[in-house]
Amino acid sequence: MSRLDDLAHALAGLGTRLHDQRLVARPRDVEEVAACVRAANGAKCSVSVVGGNHSGYGQTGDLVLEMSNFTEMQREGSCLRVGGGVTLEPLALFAQAQGLAAPLGTAPTVGLGLVLQGGVGHLTRSRGMSVDSVRALQLVTCTGRVVEVSGDEEPELFAGAKGCAPNFGVVVSLTLEAAPFRLCASARRVFPASGAALRTYMAWAASLPNDCSADCCLYFRDESALPGEGDLLMGVYDFNFDAGASGEVPLEKVLWQTSRESLGPKELMAHEPYLLEQPEGICKTGCLSTRSFFVRACFVRKDADIADVLVECLEQAPSRHCFVHFQHTGGAVAQSSGVFAAAEWSVVISGAWEEKTEAAAAAVRAWVLGIVQRLLPSSSGTYATDLGPQDVALAKHSFEPQRLERLLDLKRKWDPENMFRHGFPLAQLGED
Ligand SMILES: Cc1cc2nc3c(=O)[nH]c(=O)nc-3n(C[C@H](O)[C@H](O)[C@H](O)COP(=O)(O)OP(=O)(O)OC[C@H]3O[C@@H](n4cnc5c(N)ncnc54)[C@H](O)[C@@H]3O)c2cc1C
Repeated sequence: MSRLDDLAHALAGLGTRLHDQRLVARPRDVEEVAACVRAANGAKCSVSVVGGNHSGYGQTGDLVLEMSNFTEMQREGSCLRVGGGVTLEPLALFAQAQGLAAPLGTAPTVGLGLVLQGGVGHLTRSRGMSVDSVRALQLVTCTGRVVEVSGDEEPELFAGAKGCAPNFGVVVSLTLEAAPFRLCASARRVFPASGAALRTYMAWAASLPNDCSADCCLYFRDESALPGEGDLLMGVYDFNFDAGASGEVPLEKVLWQTSRESLGPKELMAHEPYLLEQPEGICKTGCLSTRSFFVRACFVRKDADIADVLVECLEQAPSRHCFVHFQHTGGAVAQSSGVFAAAEWSVVISGAWEEKTEAAAAAVRAWVLGIVQRLLPSSSGTYATDLGPQDVALAKHSFEPQRLERLLDLKRKWDPENMFRHGFPLAQLGED
């Protein structure tokens, strides 16, 4: 019998199914999660977890655990305790109904993989990354043990595993600090893109106070949606969480603008200049159904001299659906727990392609990775959340050396056989 047969036999009562040489289970409670992991341990099988399913890595273990039954949410004082299968929009709506908001990402269908591994969104500059608001986890470790992890219980694992938690087990529930939220004022302005315009945006955005943030997106004009001139555009979206005014990026040639509107926590999602202008409705579905994506991101410092390079790279992009998004961080990130080294932006390089050919995919991947290489010297590292087993070279730049050593010690202690090996390649970083 193969290991998978052994595992299927051990999990016979749990309604598992075989798909693509993998066993897929949808546990209903923490005991079933523990039973699945114990059985995988006994059969020497790897385990991966599907949360919001935006990375693809969750689908690749010998045993795939789908967390869609873990969507419960409750308020506990100033915190929200949520199940390991919750996605961001229901979470933001639940918080909003309590008059609260937690710092989350900008796409509504993304799941807790974002919160466990970083989490950059429009509240990041004022409140830190999502991972900085995590107060406790309920984790099933590789032996099937259920562990409560917080500043009081298993504090070493709690502090150390931030930003890398999927490497240590299955998160059954998570407690997230939230805070009262006033409406935020927001407006979008679109300019012709150039190195000089991007430099002006960068200098202006870096000077904003912490309760304001401003994202910028370099993208190609979509003829069906945007009137105006110029092919490569620069959309700047500013968010003001205080009563004062953030002002506007000092550029005169505006192609298009929206009037200032008030946004609640839920509306803070799906506000990205490029995505808003796509006719396929990503803002409703969270993904573009007809395109494939390849994305990598770097944390870029405020003094980075990258404006001309980026515009030049975009002008040579292999597809009109390639774009670069500056997600504004800085502010509170620099003052918080420091999971990732402080930087002014998470610069997200996205390549999308429509033709379902390996050549199209390879061209886009090479373009994205080429930009990352050019940004690395001006960055404080790569963003771990996008990285998988094939990304060892990039993963070396995700955590500062001291933090990486600590993560590796924890990995040896809590997952010595590397059962949870299908996302960020932590164990491989210790093999050199
Ligand atoms: C359209 C789109 C928009 C995005 N926008 C943002 C953004 O605004 N800000 C940002 O910071 N990032 C963003 N990302 C990146 C995103 O944070 C990562 O892709 C993240 O890993 C996705 O998490 P998920 O739960 O949706 O995906 P999954 O593929 O389900 O999970 C990602 C990883 O986390 C693990 N995981 C998920 N849930 C659990 C759990 N309960 N227990 C243990 N491990 C778990 C999985 O095993 C996998 O390794 C975006 C990605 C996409 C595709």
